[in-house]
Amino acid sequence: MLDTLFLNFCVLCTCGYALSLTYQRWPVERTGRWYVARLAVLASAAVLLMHDPAALPSAVPVDLRAVPLVFALLRSGPLAGMAVAAPLLAVQMLTAGQPPAASFLEGGSSILAMLLVGAALRAGMRRMPPERGRALRLPAAALTLAVNGAAERLLPGGPDSASSGYLPLLLLGLAGYVLLNAIIVNRVNLLKATSRWQSQALLDTLTGLANRRQFDQDLGNLDAGDAILAVDIDHFKRVNDTHGHATGDRVLRAVGQALQTGLRHHDRAYRLGGEEFAVMLRHVNREQAQIVAERLRGAVEASSMAGLKVTISVGVSLVAAGDAPGAVRQADVALYRAKQRGRNRTCAWQSGDLTALDVTKTMIGLI
Ligand code: GH3
Ligand code: MG
Ligand code: MG
Repeated sequence: MLDTLFLNFCVLCTCGYALSLTYQRWPVERTGRWYVARLAVLASAAVLLMHDPAALPSAVPVDLRAVPLVFALLRSGPLAGMAVAAPLLAVQMLTAGQPPAASFLEGGSSILAMLLVGAALRAGMRRMPPERGRALRLPAAALTLAVNGAAERLLPGGPDSASSGYLPLLLLGLAGYVLLNAIIVNRVNLLKATSRWQSQALLDTLTGLANRRQFDQDLGNLDAGDAILAVDIDHFKRVNDTHGHATGDRVLRAVGQALQTGLRHHDRAYRLGGEEFAVMLRHVNREQAQIVAERLRGAVEASSMAGLKVTISVGVSLVAAGDAPGAVRQADVALYRAKQRGRNRTCAWQSGDLTALDVTKTMIGLI
């Protein structure tokens, strides 16, 4: 008996691992091929788990087939529960050796009862705050598993509860649910943490803007018809020297915010480092890019940045097909030109701009 019980839990663990592989990212997929694969793994697990029931002393054999069904039902809803229940019921009927109607009634009554109870409990939990709903998942699983085997015992001629292994079935089912749930919760927590670290790795901690790493990633998506603005705060060293580093930080945050709020939702501002920022504009022509650059410059000039008046210089460059890095260099050259011409202005890159002096200064700036 212990052998078969152990075997059943091993099968559940293996299926739990296979199931965890269908959770690919956070937020968890609720449609698509991974979701279908998830249901397929759960349905296969339910069918596999009915294969070797444990023969408990003085009781009918018990197995863990209800566990994947309850898991699908409580996690993904009644449709998912039905998708797992249908193959289980079909295999039960085919292997029962009874007339189809009798085996449908026997297996189907428990499944139907679990589906109804689980769906009602889930609907109730979904109306609660998410934390509370999650905390109630285990009691909900216990209640759903409690109706497993209860329904057919109420049928005329059904097994009587004392000898039927009802309690072991419930307790083993609950242990199985806890095990399966632990495997998946562990996986989901890992995915959540990975997603959080990924987004943190792409954000600048001071300003909350996208950082240099995100800029380098996004650069690969730019193409002809997009533009890059190189932005630098004018005489920022003086801000630090006069008002202190903490005020300097607040100015950086305010400028970052002014840049991002002045953009359309598909354009993006980045802090590349120090007091240097960049903006990617999608689907613009030269004139529109210059208008946006001038609007951003004007917005910073017009508002108080952390209580101070600061200005920015902006270099504008349009991306040529397949050469986004070239546009970054050109925007930097244009920015240098804006600085040369007196700061607090925007300059657009034009071919012929790249003088030897510009190249030297720009390259130093890029290193
Ligand atoms: P320019 O108009 O030519 O750009 O002059 P600038 O003073 O802005 O440029 P410079 O490169 O001489 O000085 C940049 C300053 O930015 C120096 C550095 O202390 C400051 N800085 C860089 N990173 C930070 C930061 O995270 N916080 C603060 N408060 N200051 C920073
Ligand atoms: Mg500067
Ligand atoms: Mg600078």
